[in-house]
Amino acid sequence: MYSETVQKLINQFERLPGIGHKTAVRLAFYILEAPKEVAEDMANALVMAKEKVKFCSKCFNITENDPCDICSNSNRDESVICVVENVKDVLAMEKTHEYKGYYHVLHGSISPMNNITAGDIKIKELLQRLSDDKIKEVILATNPTVEGEATAMYISRLIKPLGITVTRIAHGIPVGGDLEYTDEITLIKALEGRREM
Ligand SMILES: [Zn+2]
Repeated sequence: MYSETVQKLINQFERLPGIGHKTAVRLAFYILEAPKEVAEDMANALVMAKEKVKFCSKCFNITENDPCDICSNSNRDESVICVVENVKDVLAMEKTHEYKGYYHVLHGSISPMNNITAGDIKIKELLQRLSDDKIKEVILATNPTVEGEATAMYISRLIKPLGITVTRIAHGIPVGGDLEYTDEITLIKALEGRREM
């Protein structure tokens, strides 16, 4: 139906999360009809992002400097680490301006259904960070989904024997919800209402 080149472009858009075939076709035709600079700017932005942006070696947040700005900020509370599933959850927490500790991004959650085990996410790296005795509390802020809860339970069992307080954010966040899409007030309340696990 489309030439090989156009089909290739459609395929690339279709790889993106949340983009179905129809939208991929629409985006491909947008590019085809736009000035060449649009395509060049987009291609450059993609390549530059992959070249410059990396994961922080401490917290696994995305950053252009390693360690990231949050990890290298000595004014933050070094006794607390907030564990989240994704980079976007860090941004959601930061928007509340309530949390002053550090973060740890797991890059996913344990999900037997999707073949994601504890070894596939950054749990080992979290435990390594906890060998530093400055950390007094770990806040588990994984999403209130089946996978998020299972991940929180799994991590809490590993951390509790270390004598570190493990808390779970409260459920102002709707079950099955996503931290990323939770409004700031709800997130602040969830953080304030955290309970020891
Ligand atoms: Zn960091």
